[in-house]
Amino acid sequence: MTPVDPTNVAARAVALRARLSDAGGNGVTVVAVTKTFDAGAIDAALSAGFSDIGESYGQETLAKLPGITSTPTVHFIGQLQRNKVRHLAAHVDVWQSVDRLELATEIAKRAPGARIMLQVDISGEETKGGVEPADLDPLLKHSAELGLDVIGLMGVAILAEPTAARPGFRLLRSLVDAHGLEHCCMGMSTDLEIAVEEGSTMIRVGTQLFGERATR
Ligand SMILES: *Cc1c(COP(=O)(O)O)cnc(C)c1O
Repeated sequence: MTPVDPTNVAARAVALRARLSDAGGNGVTVVAVTKTFDAGAIDAALSAGFSDIGESYGQETLAKLPGITSTPTVHFIGQLQRNKVRHLAAHVDVWQSVDRLELATEIAKRAPGARIMLQVDISGEETKGGVEPADLDPLLKHSAELGLDVIGLMGVAILAEPTAARPGFRLLRSLVDAHGLEHCCMGMSTDLEIAVEEGSTMIRVGTQLFGERATR
């Protein structure tokens, strides 16, 4: 895991807030994505005024989170294997990448009543995961029946170029509204302005705050 310089993170946070403000997104929640960076990135994010952090990799999360002394709200945003849920349950506050019933069932068992988001495939790229929009209704219904607190939907846009993201963002927002959910979690470092324009309530930002990630 890569260390960060807290001074850099503070400066990058100022730049991020300026971008958000320019886009009309002052009220949007920022999830600081600390994946691939060491636990110091979590402290740096908290010092810079963020209280939500995002992690993507099960093993890395289990190596990093138990050692931290601060208490951020931890979002799990990566593709998730069912057998990791049991170990992660003590550390995760919001499960963002729930895209199938077996995962919802396991979370309900290991973390009863947990806050979750359903990940919807808005890119058409199967590698990113997410439930097909047409299959969202039953998953939402079953998740609620399991006693989970579904606080919103999340999506990962086409990464090719920011403008290509807009139709997917628009789709996600319409699904959030159709189901009367609170959160629409979309937008990352490269496309956050477009996401905010299309009604994001929560963005997930790594590179803009911590710099380029080492390839895993
Ligand atoms: C890594 C990751 C992010 C952060 O991406 P950046 O482009 O570095 O801001 C956001 N969402 C998900 C699901 C990720 O895996």
